[in-house]
Amino acid sequence: MSTLDRRSLLGLGAAGIGSALLTNRAAARAPFLGTQAPAFHRFMIGAIEATVVSDGPLPMGKPAASFNGFPPGEITKLLQSNFLPTDDIVLEQNVLVLNTGEKLIVFDTGVGTSKSFGPLPGKLASTLVKAGIAPGDIDAVVISHAHPDHCGGLVDINGQAVFPNAQIYISSADLDFWTDEVKLGSQLKPLIETARRNLLPLRDRIVFYKDGQEFLPGVQALAAPGHTVGHSMFMITSSSETFCYAADLAHHSVLLLEDPRGTFVFDTDAKQAAATRVRMLDMLTSDRTRMMGYHFPWPGLGHVVKHGEGFHYIPEPLKTVL
Ligand SMILES: [Zn+2]
Repeated sequence: MSTLDRRSLLGLGAAGIGSALLTNRAAARAPFLGTQAPAFHRFMIGAIEATVVSDGPLPMGKPAASFNGFPPGEITKLLQSNFLPTDDIVLEQNVLVLNTGEKLIVFDTGVGTSKSFGPLPGKLASTLVKAGIAPGDIDAVVISHAHPDHCGGLVDINGQAVFPNAQIYISSADLDFWTDEVKLGSQLKPLIETARRNLLPLRDRIVFYKDGQEFLPGVQALAAPGHTVGHSMFMITSSSETFCYAADLAHHSVLLLEDPRGTFVFDTDAKQAAATRVRMLDMLTSDRTRMMGYHFPWPGLGHVVKHGEGFHYIPEPLKTVL
């Protein structure tokens, strides 16, 4: 038998197996569904009912487009050893919702109607409804910082408030920086435009939180500057339980934890962001605080521990009952 004959026989063999699979698939009683469970996850923080609701993922492409400051080869090594693709970074958008019994509070709002990140994100409004939460019932929206993936979901396509009855909370430093008209002439233009479009129409509903202030019952702001000038994280306390919504303290649960001195290209002050990251992660590890990262793998809940020169994220088991 010639090599050519053998090849065509092998080819036929593969085709044979393929059609057998197709036959089996057609014989199943149900077709492939191609859908995922609604993207929300409920848990308790003391007496507070918390829900993480997804806005959908942000595909960031090659790691070098988003992360720098790492020794050569380290990014690939870290991704490989954590069984993650080395050429395609995907960041989740985990939106925290709290029902304190008194107030219904949303932390950050996803990208909204912007298509800059492709068709996958911008799902918050629909995922909230799937989670049984009506946007009209939201009392407070807390914005950790004024980047488009956090404040982008405040208004709809017509510029109307998505949360019509909510007070909006943000740092004055971030509101000033990201709505500054002068920066429309800089490379920050698209980010400034999104912040202006979402925040300025709601200006009369905006209340500023300050570093260390308990500005909503059980919710304390902690300034965590560097990623943006006013970037903040939030300590949530109920019935002696404390939980940290860390927002964008770290954009990647492997890269920026294992090597917290690495940096993210969208940091306003990358050096300050890295110093803040180390300081806050030190605090979370020493206090063994349960935490959540906005961009961590869904739903972003877990703990951090010290590991080598850096830290390590341990996701918490998801419970099927509250
Ligand atoms: Zn972000």
